[in-house]
Order: sequence, then structure tokens, then C-alpha cells
Amino acid sequence: LIELDRAHLVHPVASWQGHEARGVRLLQSAKGATVTDAEGRELIDGFAGLWCVNAGYGHESIVEAAAEQMRRLPYATGYFDLGAEAPIRLAAALAERAPGDLNHIYFALGGSDSVDSTIRFVRYYWHAKGQPGRDQFISVAQGYHGSTTMGAGLTALPSFHTGFGVPYEWQHKISSHYSYRNPVGDDPEAITAASVAELKAKIEEIGPERVAAFYVEPIQGSGGVLVPPPGWVKAMRQTCRDYGVLFVADEVITGFGRTGPLFACEDEGIVPDLMTTAKGLTSGYVPMGAVFMADHVYETIAEGAGAAAVGHGFTYSAHPVSAAVALEVLRLYEDGGLLENGRKMGARLMAGLQGLADHPLVGDVRGRGMLAAIEMVTDKAKKTPVPAELNAATRLFDRAWEQGLVIRAFANGIFGYAPPLCCTEAEIDAIVERTRKVLDLTLDDPEIRQAMA
Ligand code: PMP
Repeated sequence: LIELDRAHLVHPVASWQGHEARGVRLLQSAKGATVTDAEGRELIDGFAGLWCVNAGYGHESIVEAAAEQMRRLPYATGYFDLGAEAPIRLAAALAERAPGDLNHIYFALGGSDSVDSTIRFVRYYWHAKGQPGRDQFISVAQGYHGSTTMGAGLTALPSFHTGFGVPYEWQHKISSHYSYRNPVGDDPEAITAASVAELKAKIEEIGPERVAAFYVEPIQGSGGVLVPPPGWVKAMRQTCRDYGVLFVADEVITGFGRTGPLFACEDEGIVPDLMTTAKGLTSGYVPMGAVFMADHVYETIAEGAGAAAVGHGFTYSAHPVSAAVALEVLRLYEDGGLLENGRKMGARLMAGLQGLADHPLVGDVRGRGMLAAIEMVTDKAKKTPVPAELNAATRLFDRAWEQGLVIRAFANGIFGYAPPLCCTEAEIDAIVERTRKVLDLTLDDPEIRQAMA
């Protein structure tokens, strides 16, 4: 399989970064928070797949929901006005639980195309408002908003959009709130004030009559789990309102219990104009994304369109099998107690990881709920990142794997954690203990020692 993978299966990020040498890591099965590799070794999945298997693996009731839907009606297009029960019930259930008046749900296939869909909805909105000149978008450095062509423009990773000749001049970035490495220091109020000032300056620079929307993750995930200071999201939301700029919350990672409540916007006390979700929506069992639109957004587009069709949709939009799975996953979060367990285990995870803060290699421990990160540094006082040439991502991922722990290791020496919400206390403690072991082994790594000297 490893040979066949190398020969035929393209994983752009890995294949073209020289990871073929080691070959793909194969999993064969999973249950709860445990995954089993091809050799039969069990590992704790501290990352819930790719921040998505929030409910954990192997829920028979999810399998049953999918099977039952497949038997009864495996497909009904959500593209036109044909429908099926499951996506309608799901849309109603989500609208009921969403913050404020986010009452209109568009189902996509995952996170990237949910984000892409919002870009089109935002553009439709401004056309309908008679302000088609509002075609400029702002997002945040270190942000990730997917890898479809439009969404990749909002993503702040240059490798996702430079060098391919795709025009991105409609896209603007402001600095991240990244508290640990912020030029304005770590005072929450100073960081928020600086970000508000920068957002205002950016809007003024582009011209307020040209700015369509601002995109932000309530907690930046792929950027390294960067948690904004309290009040930051709310202040940015207010700034957008002051300028009439639409505020889009990208909750693809933070949604569905990852940070405690069903949506992180609830913790922030804000209602965005649009919100994107995916991952935990179906807990990774099948692909699906959901875009939430506030009443005024939906109604403006509908009125503006009049009798004309709004040309947007996918063959698999509102897929009944995905919707049936999402309904069962939602039941597990609520009636099955997963949200509650996630909140308890999230507090335990944060406390456990905080206990590693004194380790000589640990510069920062941060997170909220079941979303956390440890940032490794080679000099604690100077916050020196691990040198890029040490390839910390692969090194740390492999070392954790050997300890029976799956984590996300970012290139700059950051470990990311997003365990399934079903984790037991023993599993959370094992995640922390195995991390300690990885850190100790890394401290003995001659190249790391040299970087620290
Ligand atoms: N938005 C955010 C905040 C994400 O973290 C991701 C994926 N990590 C996406 C969008 C894209 O989602 P997908 O990979 O499902 O297309």
C-alpha cells in the first residue's frame, strides 16, 4: 500500500514536500479516541483526524443512520427544489441552535467550498444592495479558510496562492492577534486596540465603499491554535458593523463543541452575518459543510434575485446521507452527552498541558476547550522558534507517533491538540503524559540541543 500510495495517490502538501521518503502512515481501524495502525499498534488520536472526528470513532448509531438513509433514499438533489426529509430537518435543527438570526442554511461538501460559497453569497448580497463595487475582502494573517481557488485567497498561507498566477488583488490581510508573538506585547486590551486600529486603517485604505466582508476564525486553528484575547472578536465585529462591512465567522474547526459550546461565537457573545462550519458537523464520517446566513443576508439576496436564479450549488449539496449522519451526530453531542464531556475533558486537557509549561522546551501553552497547542522554543526567554531546517513538524509528529499519540505538529514547532470529545480522563492524561515524553526525548535530540546552545 505504501508503494501504491507513493506511485499513485497525490497528497499535494506531503507528496511535494519530500515526505514520500518515509511513506504514508497507514491506519486500519478506530474506536472511540483510539486508532489502530497497519501493524496493529493502538494510538490515541489527539487530533480527531483533522480536527473533525469530534464524536469519536466507531459509533454504531451513526453507521446505522447512514445505512438506513442509504437504503431508503441515498440521493435527492439539494440543487433544485427537490428535497428530502433529513437535510430539511437538519437545517431546521441547526437554525434553532445557531447564534441570533442565522436562520438560513446552505449545505456544502466541506469547509473550503463552504467558505467559497460565502464569497459568492457576499458578492450577491452587495449586488442586490446596488453596491457591486464592494468586492474587496479582508482576512487575518495566520488564518486558514480552505484551499479552493477563492477561499485559498483568504487563507494566509502563501503556498496556497502564490506562484500559481491566480489573481488575488481583491484580498487583503491584517495582522494576527497572535498574543505570544505580538509586537504590541501580550496585554489583551492593547492587542485588541491595535487590531481594531489596523482593521479600520485597512478599510479606509481600500475605501469603505469597496469593502465587502471581513473573515475571521474565532480561534485560528491551522495558524497554530492562536486564541484572541477576550473581547477581540466582539470588537472586530463591532468595527465591521460601524463600516457596514459583513462579518463572516469561519467556525469550520471551532464549531460543534470543539471549544465548549456548540459554536465558539456563543462564547464571544456575537452574531456574525454569515458563518461557515464543516468537520464536526458530521464528525468526519461523511463530507458535509454548512453555511449559515442571517435573515438580512438571505432576504437581501432573495429580494435582489427576484425571479432570477442565483447560480450556485453542487450535485451533492444537502446530501441526504450526510444530513442523516449530521442529525445523529447532533443527537450524540446533546442527548449523548458529548458536549458536556468535551467541556469537562477540555478543562482537564488545558490543566494538564499547563502543567508542562515549565518544561525547558515549552514557550507557550494555549487553547480553549478541546482545542489546544504547545509552542516549542529553543530559548524560553527570547521565544526563539525551532529553526525551520530542523523540520520540526515531521520530527515531532513521528516522535509522538512512536509514543502512541497522534498530534498535529506544525512546521514552527507547535503541537496542536483537538481530541475527540468522547475522550476519557485516562485518555486525556495519557495525551499529556505522552507529550511530556515527546518533549523529554526532543530535549535529548542532539540537533535540538545544538539549537538551544
Ligand atoms: N476553514 C477553516 C477554519 C479550516 O480550518 C479549514 C480546514 N482545516 C477549512 C476552512 C477548509 O475545510 P476543508 O478542509 O473541509 O475544505
